Amino acid sequence: MEKLFYDFHIHSCLSPCGDEDMTPNNIVNMAMLNGLNCIAVTDHNCVLNCEAAINIGKKQGITVLPGMELETSEEVHILCLFPCLEKAKSFSDYVSSNMPKIPLDKEIFGEEIIMDDEDKIIGNLDTLLNVATFISCDDISKIIKDYGGVAIAAHVDKMANSIISNLGFITEEMGFSTIEFSKNCPEDFLSSKKYLDGYNYLYNSDAHYLWDINDNNRFIEVEENTPEAIIEFLSKRK
Ligand SMILES: [Zn+2]
Ligand SMILES: [Zn+2]
Repeated sequence: MEKLFYDFHIHSCLSPCGDEDMTPNNIVNMAMLNGLNCIAVTDHNCVLNCEAAINIGKKQGITVLPGMELETSEEVHILCLFPCLEKAKSFSDYVSSNMPKIPLDKEIFGEEIIMDDEDKIIGNLDTLLNVATFISCDDISKIIKDYGGVAIAAHVDKMANSIISNLGFITEEMGFSTIEFSKNCPEDFLSSKKYLDGYNYLYNSDAHYLWDINDNNRFIEVEENTPEAIIEFLSKRK
């Protein structure tokens, strides 16, 4: 087994709320400096900056999983991680055809920038990514599995856009194996929520700025440091 220091929830400059310094190279380099072994780039409802980050990660020797932070029809955030770019891109196309097209107001939200592996701008989106899709919490785990990935209930300790804040519950039928806490989640959060026993836990940063990315103080123990092995680990309950 390998001990892997991780951060599987990082926004790039593609997210309208992500800082413009969150370029693919800056993200990977900061993760390296912080001593991480594996990360995921997870922008809102879109995977278009994952390719650059994966390529940079390969050069630098850090595993980068393609991912997305999906917003469901219930306005719940779900972290979606994939074993390869191809699967992530087909899921992203599916999401894109299942969300409203609202023109991006750059004055309010900022830009949604796509970069290559040299941090050169290769595109700009003109519709807003931070919107609720038409996909429900009840279906997301199953849909992601069909794409070879894993769905994780995001930041369940937050007061907004979490499955617990928005629905008040999480059920077995929803099919989640792993749930995510914020990196600064209060110690006593879990003790008051017995129904969260038995899940796998992750503590991710949800970084929108470089300095928010996790340090090497949280690890998972996985067969090997590959996207496939990590997805398999996260797809099983404790
Ligand atoms: Zn979120
Ligand atoms: Zn996020």
